Parts: sequence; C-alpha cells; structure tokens
Amino acid sequence: MAEDIQMKDLHFLELVETFQKLEATTKRTEMIAYLVDLFKKTHPEIIDEVIYLMQGKLYPDWMGMPELGVGEKLIMRAISIATGFPVKRVKEEFKKQGDLGKVAETLKLSKRQAALLAFLGAGVQHPLTVKRVYTTLDRVAKASGPGSIDLKVKLLSGLLQDASPIEARYIVRIVEGRLRLGVADATIMDALAVLYGGSKEARAIIERAFNLCSDLGFVAKVLAEKGLHALKEFKITVGRPIRPMLAERLNDPREIIAKAGGKVLAEFKYDGERAQLHKKGDLVWIFSRRLENITAQYPDVVEMVNNSVSAGEAIIEGEIVCIDPDTGDLRPFQDLMHRKRKYDIHIAMKEYPVAVFLFDLLYAEGEDYTNKPLLERHNKLKEIIKENERFRLAEHIITDDPVELEEFMLKAVETGCEGIVAKAIHSSAVYQAGARGWLWIKYKRDYRSEMMDTVDLVVVGAFTGRGRRAGTFGALLMAAYDPGTDTFKTVCKVGTGFTDEDLAQLPKIFEDLIIPHRHARVDSKIQPDYWIIPDKVAEIMGAEITLSPLHTCGWGKIKSDAGLAIRFPRFIRWRDDKGASDATTVDEIIEMYRKQLKKIS
Ligand code: ATP
Repeated sequence: MAEDIQMKDLHFLELVETFQKLEATTKRTEMIAYLVDLFKKTHPEIIDEVIYLMQGKLYPDWMGMPELGVGEKLIMRAISIATGFPVKRVKEEFKKQGDLGKVAETLKLSKRQAALLAFLGAGVQHPLTVKRVYTTLDRVAKASGPGSIDLKVKLLSGLLQDASPIEARYIVRIVEGRLRLGVADATIMDALAVLYGGSKEARAIIERAFNLCSDLGFVAKVLAEKGLHALKEFKITVGRPIRPMLAERLNDPREIIAKAGGKVLAEFKYDGERAQLHKKGDLVWIFSRRLENITAQYPDVVEMVNNSVSAGEAIIEGEIVCIDPDTGDLRPFQDLMHRKRKYDIHIAMKEYPVAVFLFDLLYAEGEDYTNKPLLERHNKLKEIIKENERFRLAEHIITDDPVELEEFMLKAVETGCEGIVAKAIHSSAVYQAGARGWLWIKYKRDYRSEMMDTVDLVVVGAFTGRGRRAGTFGALLMAAYDPGTDTFKTVCKVGTGFTDEDLAQLPKIFEDLIIPHRHARVDSKIQPDYWIIPDKVAEIMGAEITLSPLHTCGWGKIKSDAGLAIRFPRFIRWRDDKGASDATTVDEIIEMYRKQLKKIS
C-alpha cells in the first residue's frame, strides 16, 4: 500500500514538512532547494495539486472556481467532531491562541496523547495523501445549496480525523484561506528549471509557457509529464489569460523616442481598469491586470465584444474607463470601484457606464500574434473590430518628433488621462507577455512634487504604534521589487497619509501576514517590530529620492555603501489590483533618482 502511494501520490506529511521549512528559512536559495527536493518526490500526476496547495489555493485565481475560505464557526465544528472535544472547548482554545490551525493541532495532540495512553497500539490512522486532501478540499469548496454546510463539516472533520496534529494545522490554514507562505511564481519556476534541465534556457521556456497561460500548476504538469521539449511547443488557449506586457517609464520625450528606436506609436494612457478580452464564438471572458476573471462585473463589455469583434476567436486588450454618458467625458478611476460588486450589477451598469479603449491584439483566428511587431498587431486589431463611441481604439499618433509627442501628452492629460504610453514599432517590437520592458514607455505628467510620480511599494514590515496609534501600527516598512533576484528591497518607512479609518484597519489587514522572522525574499537592514510576508501593495507619494545608508534599494548602484530612500513618503491608497511582484522595481527607482539629479543640475 505504502509503495502504491509513493508511485502516484505523495504523503501529505511530506508537503507539510516542506511548508514548515519554507516558513522557517530566511534564504531564497534554501527555499528553491526545498522545492526541488519536494518536486523530485512528487509524481507528475499531482504536481499541479502540490503547487496550488502550496500557494493556498485549488486552482489558478482566474479560473473563477469556488474558493475555500470556510468560515470559523464551521471549522470549529469540524475540529470538535475530529478531536472529540466539545465546540465550547474549541472556542476557548481559539480565544487563547487566536489561530484555528494551532487550535486543531493542539487538540489533536492532546486527543492523540490520551488515546495513545488509553489504548496503546489500537486505532490505526490512514496516512493522508496529497490527492486525498486536494480532492476532499475541492469537494468542500464546491459544495453548495441545501445541506452543503453539513456536508462541508463532514468532509473536513473526516480529513482532520485522519490528520496528524501538524497536518491538521495546515489543513485548517488552507481551508480558512490563510496559508500564506509567500512562495512566489518566480521561486517555483526557478525550482522547476533546476529540476528539468538546470539551464537558463530551461528557465526561459518555463516562463514563456507560464506567460501564455498563467497557470503554473498546468505548466509544471506538462513539464513533468512530457518534458521540456513539449513545453517549447506550448500554445495560447482562448479562455486562459496571457500575462500582461508592462511599461517602463521616462519623463523626457526626446529620450523616449530615442530609447524606442526613433519612432513610436503613442497612445493615451487611460486611467481605468486594464482588461484582457477573450472571445470564442459567443463566449467572452474578461481578465483584469492581475488576471482575475472579472467578466461578471461587465455584462455591457461582454455585449460590446459580441457585437463589435468580427473574429470568431480573438484575444484583445484595452482599458475599461467610466464615462459620462451625456458628454462622453472620462470619469476618474475611483468611479469604477462601483462596478466591483456581486449583486445588482445591472444598476451599477446604468449609473456607471463604461467605454473600452483598445490597444493590442494577442491572438486571432488560431494565430498567435504575440511574436509579431506592434503595427501588425494594431492593423489586425483595426481589421477585426467595428468601432463605436463606447468600443474603440485608444487615441493614438505615430511620430518621431519629441515636440509632437509632448503636445500629445498634454492633450491626453487635458482629456482626463494619466499621460501617454509610447510604444516601439520596429520589427522586434513584439508583445512581451509577463515582462516590463522598454518596448512600452509610459510618460505621465505629475505636477505634485519633485518626485515626478507616485510609486507602488510592498509592505514588508511594521512598527508598533504609540500614543494615538496605540493598538495599531505607527508606520510600515516599504520595499521595491527586484525582479533579477526576486527579492524586495526596502526604500522607506511610511507613517503619514493614513486616515483614521485606514489606521484602524491595519492590524486586520496584516494579521495573517505577520511572521516571526524576515521573509526569505526580503532584503532589509532595518529591523521592524513585525516582519510581514510581501503581499500588500500601496501607492506612495514622496518628496524626493535621496542616498541612504539604511535602505537596501539600489544598494551600491549609485554609491558604494549606500542605497536609496524616498523622503517624506505619504500613503495614497492600497493597490489591491497589484500583486507584490507588480510593485515598482528597484531599477525604476534608480532611474527616477537619476532623472531627479538631472533636473536639479
Ligand atoms: P500604472 O500604475 O502606471 O497604471 P501598471 O504597473 O499598472 O502602471 P504599466 O505597464 O506600468 O502598468 O502601465 C501601463 C498600464 O496603463 C497598463 O497596465 C494599463 O492598465 C494602462 N493603460 C492605459 N492605456 C494604455 C495604453 N494605451 N496602452 C497600454 N496600457 C495602457
């Protein structure tokens, strides 16, 4: 029996032991080594399940499958049944420990000890396997309708009954939606590359496949089952989102044109929500910048795609923006928030109508366009859409003249846009899925301060609040992302700009993200009162960027023994549409520092 398991499955305990190691390490190289060890032991058939579980989910987010997120009450009932302790006792223990995972573990321990003492050798447990845990959790997530609560409790208590104490801890964390190990996609890809080839080329092939389908479990499975060669042939599928191409930033039109190769297609940079629109026959999917399935929020956009895209199969990109139906004027980004609701979407649709401004085409009629130059993509886009007031190409010009580019930028700002995106049009200007590069350059006007733009930073630590801020945090330690090393480098401590309401919410926001040591992907010389798993992104405005002996962002890049810091940072808002690796990069901050120097001199 045990051998059978080894062949097609994996003991859940192996996975849990890896979770523990991942939680305990402060070194990214160790994280990768633990993952390599784990993947070596994992049968190809279940490698996708192992990857989803490790990221605390059952499917990639974009699939829009029912999520776990089982409520506390229900979990307490399941723990009670599994351990034989009354619910009251479970509740008391929860009050004491504040962590249901630990509660399950503690009660399992005492139960087991008692059982062991009483009936030495009796009552054999079935060791849990990954397949069993995954399948059961999947059933828990999907159970709905009458009787589903009881079914969920039954399924969960059955699992917990057979779980060892430590397994129980992690099962509960997963069902609560609180398993946050902070294992990034990039770290998993590194481990897969080590295991399947070990070369830079292997890493690139894995990443390309991931960029085309946004499903790391699926990519790992193809890789494990069919090898690197099969992954090379990986194709786009309509209905699976492609990871978006992103822009670098510059603030000088002359430099922008030079950097892009002499001539650009410049478009308005609309301030709304990015949308990747997939069409297959009558079926339409809409994916957000973070690749969540947001189709249900925009029935009007679904209708526009159906009416105005002539190709039977297509993947196109655009920005959804709220508009004033009477004047056609663009409305601010915040108005779109009213569309983020589950119910009464038809009411919100009337009050907050939208337009879609299209800017790219990635796939049409069975053909992959991501490897084709921009103008070819743009021409095909024009060919397959019927434009109207509410569904049309982003405003654009083609120019090699910096003066014209500057005028176009001012026109964009006047129209209510953030600025422009200037895009390279030479023959290698392909769609770089999942990458931020110089083929797209954003040029935003911001008059607010010396620092020309806001930045999006990741929270990696927090400081205890005093005085009026007792009971919450006084400041947050913020970091920029370094894609080269897949780490976060600190750049400032932010304590201003928060409303009283923002402040009151901080402990709740971070309660599940606090860890007892620095996260392996965080590089910091500062020791905060609390370390936080890099996850939450905030938009920050600062006065200027200075050299700093304390912060690790850009360390040694401008001056040896110094990094860069943002002075007088102010919190603007949470950027929940961004994940940690979408934050402003270290290179962008170095670039901003250099720009600022030029302006002063
Ligand atoms: P930001 O916070 O500035 O929106 P970002 O990190 O979300 O930046 P970038 O790639 O840096 O993304 O900037 C491009 C973003 O601007 C896109 O993600 C998209 O949402 C938006 N956008 C608006 N108009 C355009 C356009 N014409 N072409 C490309 N992107 C556009």
